[in-house]
Amino acid sequence: MSDTVRTRFAPSPTGFMHIGNLRTGLYAYLFARHNGGKFILRIEDTDRERTVQGAVEMVYRTLKAAGIDYDEGPDRDGGVGPYIQSERADIYKKYAEELVERGGAYYCFCTKERLESISGENGTHTYDRKCRNIPLDEAKARVAAGEPYVIRQKVPDGVVSSYRDMVFGEISVSSEDIEDGVLLKSDGMPTYNFANVVDDHLMGITHVLRGAEYLSSTPKYNLIYDAFGWERPHYMHLPAIMKDATRKLSKRYGDANFEDFLAKGYLPQAVVNYVALLGWCPKSGDEKMTMDEMIAQFTPDGVSVSNSIFDEQKMKWLNGEYLKAMTEDEFYAVSLPYIEKGVAGGGFDKREIARLMQTRVDVLGDIPEKIAFLGDFGEYDLAMYEHKKMKVDLDVAKKAVKVSIDALEGLNDWNEEGIRAAISSAAEAAEMKGGQVMFSMRVALTGQPSTPGGAIEMAVVLGKEESMRRLRFSQELLDRN
Ligand code: GLU
Repeated sequence: MSDTVRTRFAPSPTGFMHIGNLRTGLYAYLFARHNGGKFILRIEDTDRERTVQGAVEMVYRTLKAAGIDYDEGPDRDGGVGPYIQSERADIYKKYAEELVERGGAYYCFCTKERLESISGENGTHTYDRKCRNIPLDEAKARVAAGEPYVIRQKVPDGVVSSYRDMVFGEISVSSEDIEDGVLLKSDGMPTYNFANVVDDHLMGITHVLRGAEYLSSTPKYNLIYDAFGWERPHYMHLPAIMKDATRKLSKRYGDANFEDFLAKGYLPQAVVNYVALLGWCPKSGDEKMTMDEMIAQFTPDGVSVSNSIFDEQKMKWLNGEYLKAMTEDEFYAVSLPYIEKGVAGGGFDKREIARLMQTRVDVLGDIPEKIAFLGDFGEYDLAMYEHKKMKVDLDVAKKAVKVSIDALEGLNDWNEEGIRAAISSAAEAAEMKGGQVMFSMRVALTGQPSTPGGAIEMAVVLGKEESMRRLRFSQELLDRN
């Protein structure tokens, strides 16, 4: 085996990339980079029926957005390609035939009907090895004559196949429990059982990281390595990510699709960071980590054997931490499309809106709703002015709104300090509490019971012209009652 660590990510293009797939790729990437190795992308598309159009492009997009950079793949040749399984049919055929010659596999001519008729216990169709002892010459003659066939694994009798998984420890399966499964299908395409072995060997993969659903099949794959006389790779199987206590996240049910989260306004780096923590805990106990920090800390002893539950609330919190940690300019750049969606048209101060939102949303997708009040302003329920604790009622509100209008009309410094100073001194002159004026002014400016900021912040966001228009509108509304 090569001295350089080589790992791979081998997605099947059967739909979108859910969080569990992404995590597998991420860990394989982190492990390779931590060890100064190479990370390879391989597309496992031998199941033509399940292949979905556009899914390969989605894999590229996802890895790019996630910041997972591969050294070799379909578009980056490292000399052991092709990296797309459907382009490797000749290779699988050649190796399947070689395995037959070595006694590790055999031709099987059983028809579909026959296979269906041999049902074992609980309705399974474990193959009864009918073709296992056909003399090779005879089998080859039948193949040459054009008879349809598959190639099956010849599982040796009476052995126990064991290996040591880097996460789960010792795994052993007795050969009695392993079926002579199909390696090469009648259409000439390999099954996963065969392709994963041939490809991982030919691509020099030293460490196989994949989902725990393959944990107990791996002894079977190892028997193929042994039959070829190839060195087995190391294995790190990863525990499942659950939707809840009983169900795994599943592509089939549309669960937790990476790109859906981006569309909802999650930052890719925050999602990746959260995903990393599903099943791995760095020794430092850190939660918020850059890719480089994850690479530096990623070791197999931190990977858990138990399943983890995907918790969107936690991911949301982490995303919020990323947003808060941005500079104002960075946040402005990422939030602008959402702000524009929230206040289509309107001459609002978008920088000010961004400033206000940065500490108030955990995902960017929540911005439009939070700022919707900016857009629609009209008749509202005056009961909103009644606030016992603030000592505000309709009379106080009337006075407060007038005080605000008088104080702000002539103000040129339309910013927080300027507005605050003008309101404070006007409140004092009118012998009102600052809180009474601010509370009334906030309602008058927005017509909303709650807003993402106080009166002054709202006034800054709205700008002078719009603020004055709204204050006058509210004054009229109050006067009418
Ligand atoms: N194509 C397999 C899957 O998507 C990959 C398994 C593996 O990594 O070996 O589940």
